[in-house]
Parts: sequence; structure tokens; C-alpha cells
Amino acid sequence: MALQLVWFRTDLRIHDNSALAAAAKKGPVVAVFLHCVEQWQAHGHGANKLDFWARGVDALKSALAGLNIPLLQRDISTFDQAPPVLTELAHQLGAEGVHFNHEYPFNEQHRDQAVMAHCRSAGLGAHGYHDAVAFAPGTLLTGKGDYYGVFTPFSKAWHKNIQAEQLALRDTPEPQAPLDIQSEARPDLPAMATRPVERQQWPAGEQEAADRLERFLRFRGRYYQSQRDFPHVRGTSELSAYLALGMISWRQCMQAVLSENGSLADGDTGLVAWVSELIWREFYQHVAVGFPQVCQHQPFQAHTRHLAWRDDDDAFAAWCEGRTGYPIVDAAMRQLVNTGWMHNRLRMITAMFLSKHLLIDWRRGEAFFLQHLVDGEFCANNGGWQWAASTGTDAAPYFRIFNPTTQSSRFDPEGNFIAHWLPELASLPAKARHSPPGDLLTQLDYPAPIVEHKMARQRALDAFKALKD
Ligand SMILES: Cc1cc2nc3c(=O)[nH]c(=O)nc-3n(C[C@H](O)[C@H](O)[C@H](O)COP(=O)(O)OP(=O)(O)OC[C@H]3O[C@@H](n4cnc5c(N)ncnc54)[C@H](O)[C@@H]3O)c2cc1C
Repeated sequence: MALQLVWFRTDLRIHDNSALAAAAKKGPVVAVFLHCVEQWQAHGHGANKLDFWARGVDALKSALAGLNIPLLQRDISTFDQAPPVLTELAHQLGAEGVHFNHEYPFNEQHRDQAVMAHCRSAGLGAHGYHDAVAFAPGTLLTGKGDYYGVFTPFSKAWHKNIQAEQLALRDTPEPQAPLDIQSEARPDLPAMATRPVERQQWPAGEQEAADRLERFLRFRGRYYQSQRDFPHVRGTSELSAYLALGMISWRQCMQAVLSENGSLADGDTGLVAWVSELIWREFYQHVAVGFPQVCQHQPFQAHTRHLAWRDDDDAFAAWCEGRTGYPIVDAAMRQLVNTGWMHNRLRMITAMFLSKHLLIDWRRGEAFFLQHLVDGEFCANNGGWQWAASTGTDAAPYFRIFNPTTQSSRFDPEGNFIAHWLPELASLPAKARHSPPGDLLTQLDYPAPIVEHKMARQRALDAFKALKD
């Protein structure tokens, strides 16, 4: 049986991995990982994600060693070097072909098409697998044959068409006979502009991901619907970083729900709501393929290209540094910068605050998030930002502008989250933490609101209305 080369990227696991499972059925496997740090930095990924990714590769190497699969590692800086490096490596090893799981953002698709073409012209097999999604983009379309641009009908179609074989876990290969090829050490990461957050906050690898899934389902899954919006409660799975780098698969998550609930669409409301979030994740991957302008810094809704965003570096810096004078926004931004993660409700509040209250271009916020998030993932991040800015799919109607203070009282009623991240406000009674009294601000060393809600709301409404005119 001919040797097979498996190219790992954002699928850092040995269990339920389509490319690895298929390759192992054809012959002995050698694995390869191409470190493209320069390219990933150019795409906006920061130290948290890159450090987590590197540690994920280390964990993968150990897991592969248990199967006697050596992991080779190459430092290639940029995507354009992938085709020649892979074909040369495959030739050196005498491999029959290269196997990988598809990725959907524009540049990654182009890289993969180039790899396919290069392999085939070099006489090698090139095998791509739609592993990260249930439906290959382009195979779940509206009645008119278009990509879905709205989530609810996409989700209905997903539930209606999903088949048992799409959900079935891919085989984990049996250990193969040892090859005379040594695994290689990971090249060091180049110096980063910022230091990654404490590593123990985000242990890398499949085992940690599986433990998180188990803990979530055992203790929190059934309360997900009622608790997911409260940032001070650990109500969500905190699996996003693991899903983004494929240390766990969406199928493993769905199978775990099925064994708890017997259904993905009915039954426990918490678990069904969680499944819906996993479908959002797939939705945004389809959007990246069906509407490639979103991968090129363009809004999904073309007319919003002309929106008069404000150029205000001071306000942007205040938002980034958690100095807006809106405690819920500031606490959220401090959570992001200090942990590499932010609760979903707060991502919506802060993104809407930047794009509506400050009327600053959502692309600046999108880039800042990607720079800090350990789970930074183009499709979900872009989708979330465009939703908040009312430029995207399922856009929040432009006149829906969260009042940050109301959101704060509703989702952090005791002000516990605020007190944790803004200790300067912890001495205030709970209710006052959402909007500290003006006469105490100097004493508290906390800034006055950077902008007045009513005025900012009207300014955003006017800017969107001007688009219509
Ligand atoms: C402005 C903005 C930016 C975002 N940027 C990212 C990002 O870079 N990476 C990322 O993974 N998610 C992003 N999200 C989606 C969401 O906030 C995170 O996935 C979620 O907070 C992660 O926490 P969790 O793992 O506990 O999620 P859970 O609530 O447990 O959800 C389970 C999984 O579903 C997926 N998911 C949940 N919500 C969404 C969503 N709205 N869109 C797409 N997938 C979703 C994630 O993979 C998540 O791990 C963003 C949302 C917004 C509003």
C-alpha cells in the first residue's frame, strides 16, 4: 500500500478527522504541518491564537506518535510556498498523494486550489475533504439555487437535510507499523507584538477539548438557553478556540448532544439552542464561500459601503483600552485583552457600541478582535461584526441599537462581572455599577461616558438613513 501524506491545518486531532481517516485506509501515513506565521499575522491573527495553534501542533504530534505516525514540520512563512513544498515532500517520501480538510476563507481556498493543481501536475493524488461542515458549501442552497443569506432558513434546511452518515464519526486509525521517519520539532514562533495570555487558561489538545465538552454537557448544557447570556455565569461551553483549530469536531459535539438528548432539533431546550450555535458556525463558513466579498473587507450589504464612518482615533483607543465610561463595555474589553476570550453577549454589545455609538468602521473592531482572540476565526468574527454593524447577513436592523446601560442591568444584574473586571467600581452598590454617578467619577478614577447614548443613537440612525436617501 502506497504511503499517504496528510496535511494538518485547523484540524488538529486524530479522532474523527476525515482526511486522516481516509488516508489511513489507503496506506501508511506521514503527517505534515506547514507553519505560515508571516501569512497568519498578515491575516491579523495575534499572539494568543498563534501560541495556542503552536501548542496544538505539539499536542497533535504526541497523539500521532501513539499511532506511529511521524509529524514533519516546515516553516514556510506564506501560503504561496505551500504547493512546491508539499509536492517536493511527497516526492521525497514516495507518497501517492496529499490529503487535507478544506478551509473556506478566500485566501485559504485559493491556496488549496493551487496545491491541488500543483500536486496533479506533479503526478500526485490530491484529496480534499469537507470535514469542518456537514454540507459542502454550494450543496445547501435556497429554492432559487442561491447561497443562504439569512440564518433561519439555512438552519431549517440544515435540520431537514442532515443525514446519519454526515453525523457519523470518522474512524480513528489503528496504530500503523513504525516507519523509518522521525517526527520533527516545531520551529520557534517569531517575536510577537504582544505577549500571549497565561497558557494555563487555554491548555491545547484534543483531551482538553473532550474534557470541556463533557463538563459542559454534564453541568451546563441543559441550562444553556437560560444562562448563556449572562457573562458572570459560566453558562457556555468555552469550546470556540478548540473548534476553531479543530481540536474537537462539530460532529463530536453533535454526537454528544445526540447521546444526551436523542435529537438535535427537539427535546431539551438548552441542548437544542446549543446545536443552533454550532449551525451558526457552519452558516458563516458557507457565507464566506457564497459571498466572497466578505473576505475582501467588503460589507455583505453592498449599499452600506457608503456609510460615513467617523475617523476618531482617540475614541477607538478608548474602546480598545476599556476607557469608554460605559462599564459593561470597558469590563468586556478588559476580559478580551486579559484572557483572549470574550463572552458572546459582550461581543455583541462592544461591537455594536463601536460601530453605532462611536460610528467607527466595524473593520477596525474586527481586526482588533482577531488580534486578541484565542478563538479568532475569520468567518465567525466577520459574521458577528457585520451583524452588529448592520452591514451583514441577518443584519440587526439598523435602528436596533443596544443601550449599553440597559444591556448591563439586564445581563449583569448584580454588576458582578463589572466589579470583577473594573475593581475601581466594586465599592459601588450593585445598581450603580452600570452607570456610576458623575460626582463620584474623579474619586473612583473612572472616566465619564465618552459619548451620550441618545445623541450617539440619533447620529447612527442619521448615518444609516442617509444611505437610503
Ligand atoms: C462581534 C463578534 C465576533 C465573534 N468572533 C468570533 C470568532 O472570532 N471566533 C468564534 O469562534 N466565534 C466568534 N463569535 C461567535 C461567538 O461569540 C463565540 O463563538 C462564542 O462566544 C464562543 O464561546 P463558547 O465556545 O462558549 O460558545 P457556545 O455558546 O458554547 O457555542 C458553541 C460553539 O458554537 C459556535 N458559535 C457560537 N456562537 C456563534 C456565532 N454567533 N457565530 C458563529 N459560531 C458561533 C462556536 O464555535 C462556539 O464554540 C463572534 C461573535 C461576535 C458577535
